[in-house]
Amino acid sequence: MQASIEQQSFILELQLLDNEIMQANTKLKSLPEIEQLLHIDKRITGANDELSTVKGEADQIALELRRSEVDVETVTDRIKKDEARLSSGSATPKELEQLQHEVITLKKREGELEEIELEIMIRNDAVITRSNTLNTDLSSLQTLKDEISGRLNNATAEINKVIGEKTTTRNLVANKIEKVLLELYEKIRLSGGGVGAAALVGDKCNGCNLAINAVEMGRIKTLAKDELLRCEECRRILVRI
Ligand SMILES: [Zn+2]
Repeated sequence: MQASIEQQSFILELQLLDNEIMQANTKLKSLPEIEQLLHIDKRITGANDELSTVKGEADQIALELRRSEVDVETVTDRIKKDEARLSSGSATPKELEQLQHEVITLKKREGELEEIELEIMIRNDAVITRSNTLNTDLSSLQTLKDEISGRLNNATAEINKVIGEKTTTRNLVANKIEKVLLELYEKIRLSGGGVGAAALVGDKCNGCNLAINAVEMGRIKTLAKDELLRCEECRRILVRI
């Protein structure tokens, strides 16, 4: 295939622009903020999961606390009634003895129930503290997420701007290339990992980085400058520079 030196240089120019566009696209996908956001989202999910567990515990404790309060109240009421009866002076001596005994037993029970209530309240405090900590963590994580999202948006916009500009230039160059040559380039580029053309540097193909054997090099030297070369190894368009 024939292609003028100018056409060949356009192909190489196009390849350089395509490389830059590819690099920008790779950069776009590998911005550190993407990984950071994934990590933060994991932490937010973890904190929310724990928060819902803690809320479940808090509901359970609140229930236990209400029951415990009722238990204490019941015993306290009973003690008050017994004490009222004791001080009324209307009870028989046998009744008095029974009531005094009952009051002692009830007060012991009241003490025990108050201990239980205290223990539940301590657990309740711990759960509230944990819940507050988790809410604070979540709020900090959200702030951090917003900051990083902002950075990601800025970086993405900047790279997209570069891609846009390079694509415009690329299309201008592509328009100067003959249809058949451009189609060949595009076809090779598609199967060649984005590289359709490479420069011949010394005896090395810049596309596959392999040296071209002496026989082939000798043949190349005899070819006219407008003869389009292909690398024997990678089949890419080879441009003499
Ligand atoms: Zn090659």
